[in-house]
Amino acid sequence: MARCPECVGVMEYNSNLKMMVCTSCGLTLSRTELDRTWKEIRERNIEETDEYDKKKQKKKEWLEWYQSSNKNKY
Ligand SMILES: [Zn+2]
Repeated sequence: MARCPECVGVMEYNSNLKMMVCTSCGLTLSRTELDRTWKEIRERNIEETDEYDKKKQKKKEWLEWYQSSNKNKY
């Protein structure tokens, strides 16, 4: 089942329009557009996840450094 990229509502195929129409917000996209939009959203999410992991990794490295520098002091 297709999902609306705007509101994640259910998209139904309208055979008159030959388009996918969102039953919640009324967004109308062709199947190709819908596929492309979701692909773009997925790619954007992957980038954001990467960025988040990088930040987490940085913080971890910093914490390890901080802890080891504390140990050296005493
Ligand atoms: Zn929608």
